[in-house]
Amino acid sequence: MSKSVKCPTCKKEVEWSAVSKFRPFCCDRCRLIDLGEWASEKNAIPAEPVPSTEEFPFSVDDGFDKY
Ligand SMILES: [Zn+2]
Repeated sequence: MSKSVKCPTCKKEVEWSAVSKFRPFCCDRCRLIDLGEWASEKNAIPAEPVPSTEEFPFSVDDGFDKY
C-alpha cells in the first residue's frame, strides 16, 4: 500500500516513498521552483545594506590588548 501526495509546485501525484527522493515534490526542479519562490518572497522585503562593520566593532587589535 503506497501513499501519495500532490507536488506543491505542479500538483502531480507523487508516491510517498523512498523512490521519490524529492517528495513532497515530484522532482528536483519543482523543489527548486518552490524554494525559489520562497526566497524571492523573502527578498521582496526592502533589503538594506548589511551593516556588518558597525555590528561587529571587534578587531584583531582589540583581542591582542586583552593579553
Ligand atoms: Zn512537480
